[in-house]
Amino acid sequence: MNQPVEALVGDEFDGAFQGNRLLATLGPAERNLLRPHMTLVEMAAGDTVLSAGSPVTRSLFPFDSLVVSMMVELSGGRSVEVASVGKEGAVGGIVSCGNSPAFTHAVVQIGGPAVTIPIHALELAKQASKHLEHLFCRYADYLLAQVMQSAACNSFHPIDARAARWLLHVQDRVGDDRITLTQEALAAILGVQRTTVNAVARVLQEQGLISYRRGNIQVADREGLMKAACECYAAVEGHFAAVLGEDGRGGPMSDCA
Ligand SMILES: [Zn+2]
Repeated sequence: MNQPVEALVGDEFDGAFQGNRLLATLGPAERNLLRPHMTLVEMAAGDTVLSAGSPVTRSLFPFDSLVVSMMVELSGGRSVEVASVGKEGAVGGIVSCGNSPAFTHAVVQIGGPAVTIPIHALELAKQASKHLEHLFCRYADYLLAQVMQSAACNSFHPIDARAARWLLHVQDRVGDDRITLTQEALAAILGVQRTTVNAVARVLQEQGLISYRRGNIQVADREGLMKAACECYAAVEGHFAAVLGEDGRGGPMSDCA
């Protein structure tokens, strides 16, 4: 009896297919469309995924602990994060569907593994699979929701609430209470000075919500951190569940599988 090759020999991309919430929704047919084009990469904190203005040639699907920030950089060296991507999503060509220069700078904040797929191969796979097409439409909607929420958050919400929100998002993605991040990186993400990050970390630590030492953040009280975070954490996570489903599959999307 013929058995799928996958069942006999396993797959070097098993980790990505199981660990990335978008790839995990794919059935055997879609996996076979993408597998020949996939490359495994290991990314380290500080690595550039996309450079603003440069062509986007590949999409990157994080799994395990990898977290990427999409940053808008202004003249004078100021920057702020507008969206973050971990194992729930993908970076590169999601909204544009390729053939466009990157608008933001995407940089690795927490290192980890990913698979990359050339944009042209992903676009061909989307044409061949309704499920893939819907999946990326819906994920693009979630990514835009993050950016829109960040515009409001960065304008109106106090820095300690924004920091708490960011820590919750990243804890979800890393899947660990411990987050390794320099003060410089956190300052760039939040668009504030290092001294401000120091002050915020001290406040959150005094409240017993985190401990913070030499670039290592430990979430000590997640419930408390949720109370300290602005409404944006729940708004963005709620939208993910609404468009992609609690398990990343989504209601209407499943109909296309
Ligand atoms: Zn907010």
